[in-house]
Amino acid sequence: MLPIFDDHLHLSPTGKRIDAVRIFLKAGGTHLLISHMPYGLHPIRSGSDWKEEFAVTCDFAERANRETDARAYCVVGPYPVDLLELEEALGPEDAFDLMMTGVDVAAELVLEGRAVGIGEVGRPHFEVDEERWRKSNEIMMYCMKRAGEIGCPVVLHTEHANGHNLAEFSEMAVDSGLSPEKAIKHYCGKLDPSWQTGGLTFSVLSARENVASAIEQELPFMMETDYLDDMSRPGAVLSPATVPKRTKELFEAGIMDEETWHRVHIETPRRAYGIEIEL
Ligand SMILES: [Zn+2]
Repeated sequence: MLPIFDDHLHLSPTGKRIDAVRIFLKAGGTHLLISHMPYGLHPIRSGSDWKEEFAVTCDFAERANRETDARAYCVVGPYPVDLLELEEALGPEDAFDLMMTGVDVAAELVLEGRAVGIGEVGRPHFEVDEERWRKSNEIMMYCMKRAGEIGCPVVLHTEHANGHNLAEFSEMAVDSGLSPEKAIKHYCGKLDPSWQTGGLTFSVLSARENVASAIEQELPFMMETDYLDDMSRPGAVLSPATVPKRTKELFEAGIMDEETWHRVHIETPRRAYGIEIEL
């Protein structure tokens, strides 16, 4: 029996919470990474507001470790779309400063050992004007810089991967002092074999064809569900059982051999996050 790692899921205070972890375990999952997302508990106006929001995610991971047989980790950071919402409330300058403060608070939590990386951070997945794009890139590079200093990864939330942005992210990482393998491009579908991957690490949505294609291309990748834990949108995302189910299914079909299983669920997480996935 080998471990099974879901590299990206969310838990929400109004969702199934630890029960979602139990669904993952029951399907055969063993390790998981809980990514921060805005919970909207109260408006973010200061560093301590960020800390309170991020603590919700850290608490989920700590609770999962205490109350279940799963081993959970988390990443925290200001969600890219937060910039736009903060701008509405505070104006562009204060919003930008507060995002940068959020990065520092996230870095502190990594240093304290409560989180294993900064994420999900990056830039909006939809088009925004030039000024907001530039600022988002600046925030993303600051995340990479802090991560490089600490030696932790960043989990990137951006527009879909394409023929030029992967090289761009890789360059941004190098320019910021972060090794590209510690920049994890989350929410990947099927990557085109002709694209330059820039040495990044990939987190692939666990649809069968995405994973099969990543295996075929020998990409350095992990599997994720991006489960949202949103009771109002059941079925809008992959269930927490998906990574274990898909892994076993691909193994049985001979598409994923034992060596690849090892690479996806143990070696790549070790290289990207510095975590030891063991049973
Ligand atoms: Zn996510």
